Amino acid sequence: MSDPNELTVLNPATEEIVATVPAASEEDVAAAVARAVRAQRTWAALAPADRARLLRRFADVVDAHTEELARLEVSEAGHTLGNARWEAGNARDLLLYAAGGAERLLGRQIPAPGGWDVTFHEPLGVVGVIAPWNFPMPIAAWGSFPALAAGNAVVLKPAEATPLTALRLAALALEAGLPEHLFQVLPGHGTTAGRALVDHPDVAKIVFTGSTRTGREVMERCARLVKPVTLELGGKSPNVVFADADLTAALDPFSFLDNCGQDCCARTRLLVQESVLDEARALLADALAAVVVGDPADEKTQMGPLISARQRERVRSYVPDDAPALRGSAPDGPGFWFPPTVLTAERPDGRAAREEIFGPVAVLLPFTDEQDAVRLANDTPYGLSGSVWTRDLGRALRVSQAVRAGNLSVNSHSSVRYWTPFGGFKQSGLGRELGPDALTAFTETKNVFISTEGPEK
Ligand code: NAD
Repeated sequence: MSDPNELTVLNPATEEIVATVPAASEEDVAAAVARAVRAQRTWAALAPADRARLLRRFADVVDAHTEELARLEVSEAGHTLGNARWEAGNARDLLLYAAGGAERLLGRQIPAPGGWDVTFHEPLGVVGVIAPWNFPMPIAAWGSFPALAAGNAVVLKPAEATPLTALRLAALALEAGLPEHLFQVLPGHGTTAGRALVDHPDVAKIVFTGSTRTGREVMERCARLVKPVTLELGGKSPNVVFADADLTAALDPFSFLDNCGQDCCARTRLLVQESVLDEARALLADALAAVVVGDPADEKTQMGPLISARQRERVRSYVPDDAPALRGSAPDGPGFWFPPTVLTAERPDGRAAREEIFGPVAVLLPFTDEQDAVRLANDTPYGLSGSVWTRDLGRALRVSQAVRAGNLSVNSHSSVRYWTPFGGFKQSGLGRELGPDALTAFTETKNVFISTEGPEK
């Protein structure tokens, strides 16, 4: 049973307690929102250049603490040190990018007879951000920093398992001179603090990242108040590999093993043209055997543990011991370890091929031709990302257009850049984060018509 008043943060690589943190109650959320309402008014009244300057200062302070933030992410989330350093850098870079947006939140002038018509992007007020445990620092940043730059206050609820980097970011914001209560972090349980944030009438928008099941509930609750919501939910992304592709690059196992597979963009459905299936199997077997799984704080480690015992049980439920599979290795002893795995005899309509496992497990599925590949790629309720590997440019373009997903890469496995839009089709989500329009997602557009008619002559 989890303690309603406290969160225990475990190191997933050792199962040792890293910290205990008070869990916010519904009253704590209400008090934080009331403080945020006041802070937002002052913040929005500042000149955009002053807001931008403070956010750049915040970026400088984050930059000075990247190693500390990275080590914190390693200890609470089990991320490899290399990944965690990238994540702290991503938070800093997004701050700089968003800061520039504060000064470029441009309205339009639209021709209208009898006067001038102009639009304004006004901040929403207080934005509630609910973050998951899989990328605690970047996802907290993606929801919060563009919202701040657009003139909003933010109340952020991190996941139960991973509140520490978010708390540190909030402390660094104060150190950088951001107004008190503008960026508040409230660790807490989803069903108390999370729901209280969603239901609060003074929270003007919710940005939620997590499971599709919880996302659906968040959207239903927001609907009652007609509250806008951005949802970044699950994924079951295809990696479509045609026979003419660079197979070694296409079958890079880190396309589904990065962050121990706890990545909503993980390419966990390996769709391989049947003429190269044997070759693909051999390449994957070698690649999985070579993956270095172990202490995430060691610079040489390529894959760390899963986040929790619960998550490991969930992942195990998809991989019976006798399932035909290619398998790498993982440490024994304390820690929530799971070996890199590719299931090789799954049916396309089976559980492991359709559901988000959120662990280092992919399924290998053959296809016959382009049409079959597109059909299989789209045969899922999700639509977050995917890759297409072929040397045929026309085919790459046709398949990219036909696959219903928000973030595709051709001859690459990249998904996320802070300067390009990110989000899902279908049940992978609603709305977009990051990219050039990130700030406008945190504004209302106001249209004002100004008559130029003079007094009657
Ligand atoms: P979750 O959706 O339960 O939790 C995500 C966040 O929502 C957490 O901060 C949690 O406290 C909060 N929350 C939970 N219930 C809430 C509620 N009723 N109202 C408001 N907030 C609430 O996800 P989880 O339990 O951490 O993970 C379960 C599964 O979700 C994973 O196995 C994976 O499949 C998926 N997941 C996806 C992503 C993603 O980035 N798409 C991230 C994390 C988890």
